[in-house]
Amino acid sequence: MKQKGGWRELFRRWQMSFARFMVGRYGSDELNRFLSGLILVLVVVSLFVRTNVLFFLELALLIWIYFRMFSKNTGRRFHENQSYLNLRFQVTEGWRKWPARIREARQYKIFKCPNCGQKLRIPRGHGKISIHCRKCGHDFTGKS
Ligand SMILES: [Zn+2]
Repeated sequence: MKQKGGWRELFRRWQMSFARFMVGRYGSDELNRFLSGLILVLVVVSLFVRTNVLFFLELALLIWIYFRMFSKNTGRRFHENQSYLNLRFQVTEGWRKWPARIREARQYKIFKCPNCGQKLRIPRGHGKISIHCRKCGHDFTGKS
C-alpha cells in the first residue's frame, strides 16, 4: 500500500517538473498532431514495405516533433503552424472543388483559337457552331 502511494507521488512530482520544464516552450499544435499521424501511417506502411528509408523518415519526423514541442522560439513555431493550416485549407478546398470542375468539363468544351491560340470555353451540345475569339476577333467553326 505504501509502495503504491510512493509511485503516485513520484509520478505527480515528475508531472510537476515536466510542467516546469515546459514553461516558455511551445508544446503541441495542429502541425505536431499531423506529424504524429504521419508517423503512425509510416509505421503501418513499414509493416508491409521493408525499407530503411521509412525508418529514418519516422525518426526524422519524431525529432522534428520533439524539437517543435520543446522549442522556445514560440513565434516561429506559431508561424509554421499557420502555414500548415493554410496549406491544409487549400488542399481540402481543392478537393471540394473537384466535383464542380468535372461537371464543368462535361458541360463545356475548350476550343483553341487557330489564329492566336487563346483558349475558349464553349457550352456543349449545340452541334456545329461559329466561334468568335474574344482576344483577337477571329471567327472559326467548331463542333460543340
Ligand atoms: Zn484568337
